Amino acid sequence: MDLGLINKRVLVCGGTRGIGRAVAEEFAKEGSVVFVVARQQSKEVAKQISMLYPAKVYGFDADLSKDEDIKQIKKAVGEVDVLVANAGGPKPGDFFELHDEDWHFAFELLVMSTVRLINAFLPGMVERKWGRVIAITSISVFEPLPRLLLSNSLRMAVAGLMRSLSGEYAKYNVTFNCVAPGHTMTERLHQIIEDTARKTLKSEQEIMKQMAEENDVKRLGRPEEIAAAVIFLASERASYITGTTLRVDGGFVSSSI
Ligand code: NAD
Repeated sequence: MDLGLINKRVLVCGGTRGIGRAVAEEFAKEGSVVFVVARQQSKEVAKQISMLYPAKVYGFDADLSKDEDIKQIKKAVGEVDVLVANAGGPKPGDFFELHDEDWHFAFELLVMSTVRLINAFLPGMVERKWGRVIAITSISVFEPLPRLLLSNSLRMAVAGLMRSLSGEYAKYNVTFNCVAPGHTMTERLHQIIEDTARKTLKSEQEIMKQMAEENDVKRLGRPEEIAAAVIFLASERASYITGTTLRVDGGFVSSSI
């Protein structure tokens, strides 16, 4: 299937490991020009990916929770056709374990980073009358997850923002969609497993087995399975899909719609 992604300029945030890295690799496989952003090691990772696939891959170190860093990304990268808004997940914790600064930081990282990235890159998409904005959120927008209050709450803001912009910018051929991963084997999931094991006094193996049992497919997701959904939504083939959140969760969420 021709996805029409050759030479498209793609910004993959949080692209040095986990889901973001898998997304960056998939775009490189498709022949896109890929810009990988993370706080550190983005240049090394870009080099590694460009050695695996015949694609131009560049790296920029930046902290997505900071306005100034996002301005620097824009300056360095210029315009992009596809924006993948993604970063690390927020700290786990029960309500009274979370303080004002945790809420503020999670807001900057999850919500404001998405707002600022869109602010920087949407005008160019509108001008060229083509664009794809894809935010990596979580199944927590469908079903609150234990000890992930920050994610359960703040990702709803991202979903609302993306849905609103979809209505406003469809006439410019710019689509806005979210991809909501279920439990996917990455460093982030390891942190969640460790936290749950500590809290429940169970072993990490037990927690992992339990998580795998919670979905229909009965295993944890692989980062490349999330990346496949992102690539499709970014493609020409997904031109009539906008304003939606695609769950990639092995059937974790039990809702029929
Ligand atoms: P990860 O921790 O493995 O990778 C996160 C990436 O973001 C890394 O490249 C890291 O360097 C980068 N990053 C983190 N904070 C940053 C910052 N302030 N500035 C710039 N870069 C930053 O996470 P992942 O598992 O790949 O998850 C990606 C997103 O998907 C997260 O928001 C996570 O909460 C969400 N998610 C993950 C799962 C899962 O099971 N893995 C499930 C649902 C949602």
